[in-house]
Amino acid sequence: MSESAVRVEHLSFRYPGGPDVLTDISFTIAPGEIIGLVGPSGAGKSTLLQHLNGLLPSKLPEFVGQVCIDNIPVARQTIAEVRRRVGFLFQDPDDQLFCPTVFEDVAFGPLNLGLSDDEVRQRVRDSLTSVGLADYEPRSTLRLSLGERKRVCLAGVFACQPSVLALDEPFSSLDPRARRKLIAILKQFSGSQIIATHDLDIVVDLCHQVLLLDGGQLRAAGQTRDILGNVALMERHGLEVPWRLRPK
Ligand code: ADP
Repeated sequence: MSESAVRVEHLSFRYPGGPDVLTDISFTIAPGEIIGLVGPSGAGKSTLLQHLNGLLPSKLPEFVGQVCIDNIPVARQTIAEVRRRVGFLFQDPDDQLFCPTVFEDVAFGPLNLGLSDDEVRQRVRDSLTSVGLADYEPRSTLRLSLGERKRVCLAGVFACQPSVLALDEPFSSLDPRARRKLIAILKQFSGSQIIATHDLDIVVDLCHQVLLLDGGQLRAAGQTRDILGNVALMERHGLEVPWRLRPK
């Protein structure tokens, strides 16, 4: 079997009682590869990301197909292992942060992994340092800027040492400096990443490949510049060619 960090095969999904939201989606992500997941609002990007760590029910008839992380099929029995491997960053940090202090929030994942107190403290220190918030441990999670809250969330994800990051609109509402910091942090991460975003200039900067989703179907997949620089394709799906790829 070929090595893939993420393998999605013929995935179709609908929310109970609703119409199809994803239809026959297949793709793979190689270890270390960064994928941009683009498409208009309502295309199914968040729904697809949530399938990567089993946030949505994977039972018939709503779910058809298979999702594998490091060759482990996402299923009820494997959910703990899958979630250890896939770090999920929600669009809104308020959906992720729930402890009073930064330390407690970042420590939550490693504590759940059953690590010793010393290991937990070390992981919290290392992951806060990697997001540039080394001295934030005692701070209240309520008294941080949006960019800082996103970075605390990311520290909590890093503290579990995932092999895959699934990031839902990580750059939305960030000011340019906070964006640059986040981009630099993501560039340092050695695992695989799939990033759902409307920030297509960042996709050009960060992503090796792009998946274009529209109406729940995978409409195009390939090298970032080939997909995002294709004017006709982008217009067909309500997207704009990013500034950096526009003819001068
Ligand atoms: P995107 O992230 O591309 O904006 P979403 O995955 O959020 O797309 O949404 C895809 C479709 O699924 C939309 O039509 C949305 O209304 C619907 N949807 C999203 N979440 C739910 C839910 N919890 N229950 C029912 N329908 C949902």
